[in-house]
Amino acid sequence: MKSKVFIALGSNIGNLEENLNTALKKLAEFSKVQKVSSFYKTKPQGFLEQADFLNGVCLITTDLEPQELLKKLKEIEKEMGRKKTFKDGPRIIDLDIIYYDNIVLNTPTLTIPHPRAHMRMFVMKGLVEIAPDFPHPILHKTTQEIIENNIAK
Ligand code: ADP
Ligand code: MG
Repeated sequence: MKSKVFIALGSNIGNLEENLNTALKKLAEFSKVQKVSSFYKTKPQGFLEQADFLNGVCLITTDLEPQELLKKLKEIEKEMGRKKTFKDGPRIIDLDIIYYDNIVLNTPTLTIPHPRAHMRMFVMKGLVEIAPDFPHPILHKTTQEIIENNIAK
């Protein structure tokens, strides 16, 4: 059985739309990209003195285990030229696992569901387009409810 995984994509360096599309193409090399949200222009959070972001969310189905998938995502980020900067700093591409089926995982390198995704409107906005009824495995709230309850800012 293939797993359903929601991935958040973000970029704020270079051609943002092209970067998100390149990442989607690279995801499709090892998974099936089932759905893609609109892309949203977003103000930076945390570190404010940087360019606006373009964000989106996709649903893939894959045979890869969570850690294997994280490794692939990091490879894509590296191939696309992402450099290590600082927390919340500028990036060519950022790929985060939001949900992996309904699993809950806490390791030093990987936390699923993503611990901040439900608080980020720029993630929930894309997610609600492609998965309004998908329940957060810890909060037991759908994307729609997370937005209605003002959990995401
Ligand atoms: P951020 O996405 O928080 O801005 P990074 O992309 O630099 O920061 O990621 C830092 C680390 O977060 C990654 O190296 C990865 O090991 C870890 N991480 C933990 N949980 C997740 C997740 N759900 N999705 C992606 N990375 C994660
Ligand atoms: Mg990341």
